[in-house]
Amino acid sequence: MNAHIVSPYLTFAYLIASVCFILALQGLSSPTNARRGNAIGAFGMLVAVVGTLILAGIIDYKWIAAGLIIGSVIGAAMSIWIPMTKMPERIALSHCFGGLAAALVGVVEYHHRGAAIDRFTMGALGLEVFLGFLTFTGSLMAFGKLQGLITGAPVTWKGQNASNITMFCAALVLLVLLVIDPSRSVLFYAMGALGLLVGVLAVLPIGGADMPVVISLLNSYAGLASAATGFALGNNVLIIAGALDGTSGFLLSMKMSKAMNRSFANVLFGAFGQVAPAADGAAGPAANYNLATVEDAVGVLTASQSVIVVPGYGMAVSQAQHAVRELAQALEANGATVKYAIHPVAGRMPGHMNVLLAEANVPYDQLFDLDDINDEFSRTDVALVVGANDVVNPAAKNNPGSPIHGMPVFNVEESRAVIVLKRSMNTGFAGIENDLFVQPNTMMVLGDAKKTLREFISGVKEEAAA
Ligand code: NAP
Repeated sequence: MNAHIVSPYLTFAYLIASVCFILALQGLSSPTNARRGNAIGAFGMLVAVVGTLILAGIIDYKWIAAGLIIGSVIGAAMSIWIPMTKMPERIALSHCFGGLAAALVGVVEYHHRGAAIDRFTMGALGLEVFLGFLTFTGSLMAFGKLQGLITGAPVTWKGQNASNITMFCAALVLLVLLVIDPSRSVLFYAMGALGLLVGVLAVLPIGGADMPVVISLLNSYAGLASAATGFALGNNVLIIAGALDGTSGFLLSMKMSKAMNRSFANVLFGAFGQVAPAADGAAGPAANYNLATVEDAVGVLTASQSVIVVPGYGMAVSQAQHAVRELAQALEANGATVKYAIHPVAGRMPGHMNVLLAEANVPYDQLFDLDDINDEFSRTDVALVVGANDVVNPAAKNNPGSPIHGMPVFNVEESRAVIVLKRSMNTGFAGIENDLFVQPNTMMVLGDAKKTLREFISGVKEEAAA
């Protein structure tokens, strides 16, 4: 596209698209408006793409049509067949393609413009290529870790952080040298190679369960790469969309770190999850828990008037959201009120629980954030913990030596009874014991969450019918 002859209609289309992107972000900030926000964002993208195809002076549509068809088929297949539990992996793959696309556009532009390239464009192109390649390999690594293709444990070695930071700085030095003399193509490709390498090496030391924070940060890099592409091509909608993507991804990473009460630096450089869980010998809390049967738990549930469900990662693994909803309906039919306590980092990605419960048609007004529900546990008959562990660990409040100390957690132990559904006495993501499981008012019902919930539903219905 020629940066100097932009049709006013195209500018108008980009303006509409940009407004749509801003409204989309606003809509996505609350579960009630999220679907609308998503639709507005998709519409904005359609306007931008169609506007570009019609008004940007494209000479040959052959390759574009091929890309459009292949991309649409892959995109549609991904959205139809990838399950909700695999959403972090899916997002990692999308960022990987986005980063690669930005980097390749940068390489082609560099070739196309040759030595005549001006310094400003060189700076934008260099940033685009470096961040694009870094996002590409970093997202691939994140995908591999989440998918179990490579170890999810942090891979560390001596001097790792120093060498990674040195490589990052070296790439920036190459960028400065290129801005001074854009004709030095060796430096350009060396910088791209460093981007690829830094993407791999920076993600290796980060634990698998921290990948959502990494993916969100890579999202922000992909956004910056797109904004840089926009500057290089003189394309305003890319600048605006890239800036929105870059800042929202960065803010989301910060918010996730804050909700885990960990510094951003700790997530990126702390190799969290590397230390093996404390030896859980016979004397550990796991030895003293109160194992309950389905019948015991059903008896407590049917006698209760108020229930708070606390879903966690195990609910996602077990795909138990529909069973949770059915049990809630059976308890409501029995006269109980049911609410859901949603922790900001429950599961493995922001909004993980909201998305799953929305899929099971749990009404939004029954979902409560941590601050809004935490005082209610002390007035509640039963806290039903479905595959959650770290987000209900009292050590975050009581044990200053705990790795999760300071992370806000639910006061589930204050309920009259606590029923915990999980498969074993294994630890959660943080790899630490949970004293909640050995409290006198806690009943551990071990087994797959969905299977146990189905048994609860039958039991509650049978008791109601009796
Ligand atoms: P968690 O601490 O990881 O615990 C999940 C529990 O689910 C496990 O203890 C596991 O126990 C159980 N489980 C697994 N499969 C199950 C199944 N099929 N049926 C029943 N239970 C099952 O999860 P959480 O309480 O949701 O906490 C999330 C953690 O992830 C936090 O530490 C958070 O900091 C971290 N994190 C979250 C995000 C995010 O964006 N949400 C990002 C980065 C890190 P068993 O193996 O015994 O069944």
